[in-house]
Amino acid sequence: MNENYDVIIIGSGSAGLVSAIQAYELGLKPIIIEKMPSIGGNTKRASSGMNAAETTVQQKKGIQDTTTSFYDDTYRIGHQKNDPAILKYFVAHSNQAIEWLAQHYILLEDLTLTAGMTKKRTHRPASTAPIGQYLINGLLSQIKTYHIPILLSTKVTALKQNSQGWINGVAISTKELSKETVLDGRAVILATGGFAANQKLIQQYSQLIGYPTTNQVGATGDGLFLAENVGAQLCNLENIQIHPTAHVNQVTGRTYLIGEALRGEGAILVNHQGERFVNELADRQIVSATIEHDSFLIFDQRIRERSQAVDFYDKMGFVQQGETISELATRTHLDTKRLRDTLENWEKSVRAHNDPDFKRPILSQQLPFKSPFYAIRIQPAVHYTMGGVRINTKTEVMNAQQEVIHGLFAAGEVTSGLHGDNRVGGNSIAETIVFGQQAGRQAAQYIQRLVN
Ligand code: ADP
Repeated sequence: MNENYDVIIIGSGSAGLVSAIQAYELGLKPIIIEKMPSIGGNTKRASSGMNAAETTVQQKKGIQDTTTSFYDDTYRIGHQKNDPAILKYFVAHSNQAIEWLAQHYILLEDLTLTAGMTKKRTHRPASTAPIGQYLINGLLSQIKTYHIPILLSTKVTALKQNSQGWINGVAISTKELSKETVLDGRAVILATGGFAANQKLIQQYSQLIGYPTTNQVGATGDGLFLAENVGAQLCNLENIQIHPTAHVNQVTGRTYLIGEALRGEGAILVNHQGERFVNELADRQIVSATIEHDSFLIFDQRIRERSQAVDFYDKMGFVQQGETISELATRTHLDTKRLRDTLENWEKSVRAHNDPDFKRPILSQQLPFKSPFYAIRIQPAVHYTMGGVRINTKTEVMNAQQEVIHGLFAAGEVTSGLHGDNRVGGNSIAETIVFGQQAGRQAAQYIQRLVN
């Protein structure tokens, strides 16, 4: 800890780990500080995948996509509240972010769809495993190869400035240290994630009271205070996303995200009357708003085989199974006749490639449900905070006068701008890779200028 580090990275989610790897590869000496006892933040809970357009993976699978269409989908779903410059940079660099991961042995060679997207551009491991843990494991093995230090259970409590106001270190506290200690550096990257586990802040900025959260307990928005205390501008904190499909363990109260890829692969939603009630592939805001307290995700064996995460959900006891529709109805306390009618109607829609009731787009390879059938009880939960620290496309943190705060960079969920007021599934992981890389690069350029 007494060594001299060039860049201090706060947070060990994928934005933090990617920026550390990038900074190291450009000749810097980085250190990562993580307040929790384990690595990976909310990233390790991410499920569906990483969006990118015009990739070789898409090309190989015959999917014609453009960065313009990626931009348009994200802008439409974000209700045109996205920062156009940030979004433009993001879509233009998504393809090389997939390549960068591949160069680091993190291969995302399968594709799925997330709600609202018009193309299959959500990249995920070929095994269809949830992306989060796979990504963190891959990044961590690179971090180990480079011997980049990570201080766990160490909380950053303040950013340090020189006499000109430039950021050049952090104050840290741990259980072992009796008082705060200062760690000096030349630049700091804020990768502290969001605040969806901070009930007080959620209530301060929204009307969202009484919702469970899918987030890890450390997602408390520390980065906002750290940045604000050195003059950073905070934006759009009221833009908080509810994810429609979380499973709440009735005994422990612990909430688990049920990945959107399951709907992307064909799962439907039914209410307690056993009826569909929405286009399941509408964006998160729309689907969440139509769920009355809770409902059921229904899918079949084929869909299960396309979503490895279901094995985990099953192991955790979330999944109910029926060899017949009536068995599933009994298990879920749904009316057998209504559930059967719903599934028969759905079969007609799939065969006709037309969903007259809710206008869900039916993918060409979609097939009618076949036994065994499965159900997971789901309810909406606070999931993601779109607002945060204002950055420019160089990930430099800005103050209220739109000036750069020298030496301070930020990437990932702690920042504001990319998602507008409604994030698309698969864009958060992509954001951490695209802007994590950029933060590492820009920190290196900044330090180069400092020393010359
Ligand atoms: P992202 O997806 O943007 O990378 P994550 O939620 O995955 O964000 O990771 C953010 C990490 O930052 C979490 O592991 C969180 O515990 C950590 N963190 C948050 N605040 C602090 C802090 N004050 N000091 C150190 N680590 C922090």
